[in-house]
Amino acid sequence: VRYGMPTVMLVPFMIGQAFPLNVANAASCLIIALFMLYLVKASRHVHDDYWGAVEARASLEERAAELEQLSLTDPLTQIPNRLYFERRLADEWARALRNRQPISVLMIDIDHFKRVNDKFGHPFGDRCLVAVAVQLRRTLYRDVDTVARCGGEEFVAVLPDTGAEAAAAVADRVRLAVASLALTANGVRVPFTCSIGVVTVEPRSSEQTPAAAIVLADRALYEAKAAGRDRVVAVPATADATGQQPVPA
Ligand code: GH3
Ligand code: MG
Ligand code: MG
Repeated sequence: VRYGMPTVMLVPFMIGQAFPLNVANAASCLIIALFMLYLVKASRHVHDDYWGAVEARASLEERAAELEQLSLTDPLTQIPNRLYFERRLADEWARALRNRQPISVLMIDIDHFKRVNDKFGHPFGDRCLVAVAVQLRRTLYRDVDTVARCGGEEFVAVLPDTGAEAAAAVADRVRLAVASLALTANGVRVPFTCSIGVVTVEPRSSEQTPAAAIVLADRALYEAKAAGRDRVVAVPATADATGQQPVPA
């Protein structure tokens, strides 16, 4: 366009001006040629500005996507973090409410992890956390299931369209999968277990909140710890936290 437009518009005019060839016509042609040159030169700035803006926007969009990904990922385990989980839970909760489906939340906490860290060191503890994250992903393999690291040695999962019985069975599968991890420190296997709190809710009104379900899952986790760890406790969703009748576990 930069070269084509001035050529198509001005060259025929210039040729027309050139005949009969005399000093006045030659001067007109020269002026037209100078004007063409000016147009080509001036359009260079527009051209550079335009393509500069296109490139800058593309690289900004790329950077924004990278930053968003970083802000939603746990740096150690490379699985989603709590922020991502909360967003995902809110979406799945709304879907469950619309479709009148049950939704389950699992709170997973490694047992006596402080001891593991104290005895074998923080780097070994980090390796354990990464291995647990991989194992959780492997065990919760449905596309719709989301598992995230909540912080420290605590993980959380949401299982959409999963009733109480199925959620308890999945939680037990997770518990066994974590217990089966065979990490070694100085050539010796270090066994560790986890406790899991499960809550299943069938949201019936928009007054029921995902936050209340998390509180209940936390409470169930606390019960699992108090009952001796390495176990799953499923609490019914009671009226006080979610405004509905208990769902049998
Ligand atoms: P409980 O069975 O009651 O959950 O006992 P616990 O020792 O697992 O729980 P506590 O809350 O007392 O300690 C959690 C420990 O988890 C503390 C810290 O040593 C360890 N921890 C938390 N975050 C990290 C981390 O990012 N890396 C490592 N290596 N350890 C962590
Ligand atoms: Mg713990
Ligand atoms: Mg903990």
